[in-house]
Amino acid sequence: MTLMAYSNLVEKDINYLTNIVGSENIFIGEAVSEDYAHDELGEARALPEVVLLPGDTKEISAVMRYAHENSIPVTTRGSGTGLCGGCVAIHGGILLSTARLNSILEIDEDNLMATVEPGVILLDFAEIVEKRGFLYAPDPGEQSATIGGNVATNAGGMRALKYGVTRDHITGMEVVMANGDVVNLGGKVAKNSSGYSLLHLMIGSEGTLGIITKITVKLLPLPRKVLSLLVPYSTLEDAIGTVPKIIRSRLIPQAVEFMERDVILSAEKYLGVQFPHKTSPAYLLLRFDGNSMTELEKTYEVVGNICLSEGAEDVLIADTPERQNGIWDARGAFLEALKAESDMDEVDVVVPRDQIAVFVNYTKELEQRYDTRIRSFGHAGDGNMHVYILRDDQDKAVWQAKMYEIMQLLYAKGKQLGGQVSGEHGIGISKKAYLEADLGEPLLGLHRGIKRALDPKNILNPGKVVDIS
Ligand SMILES: Cc1cc2nc3c(=O)[nH]c(=O)nc-3n(C[C@H](O)[C@H](O)[C@H](O)COP(=O)(O)OP(=O)(O)OC[C@H]3O[C@@H](n4cnc5c(N)ncnc54)[C@H](O)[C@@H]3O)c2cc1C
Repeated sequence: MTLMAYSNLVEKDINYLTNIVGSENIFIGEAVSEDYAHDELGEARALPEVVLLPGDTKEISAVMRYAHENSIPVTTRGSGTGLCGGCVAIHGGILLSTARLNSILEIDEDNLMATVEPGVILLDFAEIVEKRGFLYAPDPGEQSATIGGNVATNAGGMRALKYGVTRDHITGMEVVMANGDVVNLGGKVAKNSSGYSLLHLMIGSEGTLGIITKITVKLLPLPRKVLSLLVPYSTLEDAIGTVPKIIRSRLIPQAVEFMERDVILSAEKYLGVQFPHKTSPAYLLLRFDGNSMTELEKTYEVVGNICLSEGAEDVLIADTPERQNGIWDARGAFLEALKAESDMDEVDVVVPRDQIAVFVNYTKELEQRYDTRIRSFGHAGDGNMHVYILRDDQDKAVWQAKMYEIMQLLYAKGKQLGGQVSGEHGIGISKKAYLEADLGEPLLGLHRGIKRALDPKNILNPGKVVDIS
């Protein structure tokens, strides 16, 4: 834990901040809603002293200048859909919400780029560009997240296999630095070799290095047709073993997800809908996009045959929007379904994709050893698994002690298999100890050096990602 000393806010600070954002955009003390104390999953809970909703970059810059002079911690919050406590103001101070920075500033059809404010909601943006015939490719599961939050966590999502993650779709941004300086990184350019890429340093920095106030993203022509395959298998190994074969065929799907029957049953119960197939122990769910149905039919024939030759029990085609939505909605509800059943915490490791089955089987070994329910699903095409350790009716302290040991073992296993601590959800507070252990020296020192260089007073989202002291 960081040892920096922070000032508590006093009346003079509140007056100063009120002057910057206006009295209708500041919440203090009891007026701060409990919603601001947590994110979607993280155990971390803390109320900020004050919530600010600034309306533009100038106001954010003035807030940061003041916070810097007075050593006040500032935590940025998008929609609060994060899963590791990143947007929780664990040191109090200012919680800076981007909710009012929600304008799409430009859709540039000639350059295939758009510039947005960070509080724009992913779903709104995706729908607006789709209506104009474009695809914003990153599609993390929680569409109520902000684009700013997606950039700050380098969010992944289902389409990452074919199109990459958020990082691959950002070309420029405006950032307010810890001392209030405003800088522009990159721009509306398709390539850039100009100096160190501070742009890429900011992407995934979880509000610890700067506050992102404008973002330029790439747009792609919208594929005209989309088709999904649901492929049941008798073993998870066969399901996962098929993925490298599909990729080697060069018919790259938009998405390849793996799931097991238990999680499907939880989603059915949660949503109150029937999944089209649930008698097999393991499934792959694939989605392909293209410009004509004929093109997609050729693709699914080849891929379907690969699946069957690798042990699939059947290949079910979903070619209408209704059928596809039914299956993908169920997939999208897995996390919520498990959360509705029990307290839980997650591991979001990424391993080489041919090691997924080894990792998932290890979770099953731990499930038995610790007599604790562990469920997993995830992005088979990317080697990124979401593993949930559920409390069920265990005593909280007992479960937490077990969870700590299970997580240590899972991260160690991930590392042994050549993986990384987080594939897409980020580090926040809940994975910080695991990241620090994983990095070791000299990498941890480099991380700390970067943080000290950009935020010497440690006021930007202190206590997240790595500690400096
Ligand atoms: C059901 C569900 C499914 C999900 N599926 C996925 C998925 O498939 N892939 C995936 O990657 N994630 C997924 N997530 C996690 C989450 O939606 C993402 O991490 C998302 O990017 C968070 O965006 P947000 O606006 O909610 O950010 P918040 O949770 O508010 O903040 C996240 C972090 O970003 C920082 N931040 C936010 N805005 C800014 C800014 N403008 N400048 C600087 N820092 C900022 C915060 O300080 C914090 O550290 C899922 C979450 C849920 C609940």
